[in-house]
Amino acid sequence: VSKRYIIIGASAAGMSAAQKITLLEPEAELIVISAEKETPYNKCFLADYISGIKLLPQVYLPQVSVFEQGKAVFMREKRVVAIDVAAKKVTLDDQQELAYDALCIATGCSPRIPPITGMQESERVFTFYSLHDMNRLRAWIAEYNPKKAVVIGSGLSGVEAADALVYHGIQVTIIEQQKHVLPAHLDHEGAFFLEAQMRRCGLVLHCNTTVTLVQHTAQGELIVHLDTGMRIDADLIISAAGVRPNNILAQQGGIALMHERIVTDAYMRSSVADIYAAGDVALVPAYQSTQLSPSFTWPDAMLQGIIAAHAMVGNQKPYPGVMPIVSSAFFGLKFASCGPVNQTPEGYTIAVKQTEHSYQKILLEDSRVRGFLQIGPTLEFGALKRALLTGQSVAQEAVFLPLGKL
Ligand SMILES: Cc1cc2nc3c(=O)[nH]c(=O)nc-3n(C[C@H](O)[C@H](O)[C@H](O)COP(=O)(O)OP(=O)(O)OC[C@H]3O[C@@H](n4cnc5c(N)ncnc54)[C@H](O)[C@@H]3O)c2cc1C
Repeated sequence: VSKRYIIIGASAAGMSAAQKITLLEPEAELIVISAEKETPYNKCFLADYISGIKLLPQVYLPQVSVFEQGKAVFMREKRVVAIDVAAKKVTLDDQQELAYDALCIATGCSPRIPPITGMQESERVFTFYSLHDMNRLRAWIAEYNPKKAVVIGSGLSGVEAADALVYHGIQVTIIEQQKHVLPAHLDHEGAFFLEAQMRRCGLVLHCNTTVTLVQHTAQGELIVHLDTGMRIDADLIISAAGVRPNNILAQQGGIALMHERIVTDAYMRSSVADIYAAGDVALVPAYQSTQLSPSFTWPDAMLQGIIAAHAMVGNQKPYPGVMPIVSSAFFGLKFASCGPVNQTPEGYTIAVKQTEHSYQKILLEDSRVRGFLQIGPTLEFGALKRALLTGQSVAQEAVFLPLGKL
């Protein structure tokens, strides 16, 4: 009798798991369930879709071919509402029950809208997270031709959102409650470098401050109040103020969580037999460490999906550990960050190289690369990544590369 595998979530982790299972066990029955109605797409391309650099077909994932070729069943716009871990079945929002031999939870995260009066249920407040969000934003921009926007939060998606709005000729103000932009991925000097470029592109930045109230005028426009007393007029707001893991199924099913995420081992196994987790909903082994780490990048989610697929069909292929390299491009610059670049852990030495056009930083421990930061017109982190993975010692000069000119 062929086995039935079920995957919840059809994004980076879920779709790479699905594709791998079709290769490893083509005779198995495979069902992928997605709460979204859109064809699975790449979140990393969403900002480019808003700015018009990428068209919709370029945003869709190549792995959707497993559905087109009939190798897996795609249940779109269906939400799993419960997992019965004892009976090994899931229940969908239409009451349908589906039994599984092995289950992968790849439910990712959802954007968090801060509990600020005036932010909830306003048609001028947008999240910047899903293709649905982007289609709503695109349609709104096309219909209302907004001139001014406020972006709350300057993590990766906040900065990408600001960049995409600038493409539409919209005057953007970013509000960041921490000291500088991209606080999780930049040090002070790197932020200073990037912020200067953002201002050159016309962006207004207010750091060290929070939004206290969003007021709606009689004309429908917005006034954003800050804790400093400042007020900013806006036609729309993008809320990019963090995410929360979609852990409710695991929580209700009694699957072990830590820091709100599903705890996994090196085979993406959860605490419950035959249930695996991968991607942003999971807490996974860190690289070359006994610690666990959240996963928050697309390539990591894909790799975990592949590892989970192997384990689900009975292979033992260990996950090497999360490699938190965040890379992106905005405001005419490319950006890559890896490791604790905004701190100096004990025993680490820091090497910095700054030019008019670029900023680089490398964290070394006994000549071994432990993290890096690059901002410039080009990126050259292949050698650094290799050095980080192999643990080989390197000479400082060897790892600084010319990053081109603007
Ligand atoms: C705007 C933006 C830009 C980004 N840019 C980059 C980048 O440049 N580089 C990078 O490495 N990373 C980037 N990321 C992060 C990256 O997209 C995530 O790390 C990745 O999407 C995680 O994939 P995942 O499969 O774990 O979950 P997700 O992509 O969050 O997908 C989870 C899916 O599960 C579905 N789901 C949840 N609950 C249920 C349920 N009960 N039933 C059915 N379906 C359910 C959700 O609807 C969703 O479709 C970006 C993220 C955003 C939002």
